[in-house]
Amino acid sequence: KLEKHCGSVNGAAAEDSCHSKQQDGEDKTADRFTFSAEPTVEDIRRMQAEFTDERDWNQFHQPRNLLLAMVGEVGEVSELFQWRGEVAEGLPDWTDSEREHLAHELSDVLIYLVELAEKCRVDLPQAVLRKMALNRLKYPASKVHGSAKKYTEYED
Ligand SMILES: [Mg+2]
Repeated sequence: KLEKHCGSVNGAAAEDSCHSKQQDGEDKTADRFTFSAEPTVEDIRRMQAEFTDERDWNQFHQPRNLLLAMVGEVGEVSELFQWRGEVAEGLPDWTDSEREHLAHELSDVLIYLVELAEKCRVDLPQAVLRKMALNRLKYPASKVHGSAKKYTEYED
């Protein structure tokens, strides 16, 4: 079963501490939320490229503009959470309309992120693999289990 402490404590430290959940032998992944397999990141890149080509918008979609557009969309996501206090995982108190609005804004962030990566020639799916390998080295599970400390706070 999912632990509930992620939504019950304020602050980033509480969120970080949610990344380790294997205190007992129970299968914590049993009812974990999962995504659909498609579209892939490459599918999203291609769909957005078609969308911009059809509108002759590539002339506006330089990296810096895409970055600013993405940050603007992050702001739109933030507006949905603003003044609500902490929100529990699964958003149990949100209406269907609010959930759909969130789905739209998160999609805007992802679409711009993918296009920004494309225009910067970053192969995002492969870059994620490399970065996660680095994260595993930086935060060995044996060392950081259940702790929200920053990597600089751990002793060798
Ligand atoms: Mg938006």
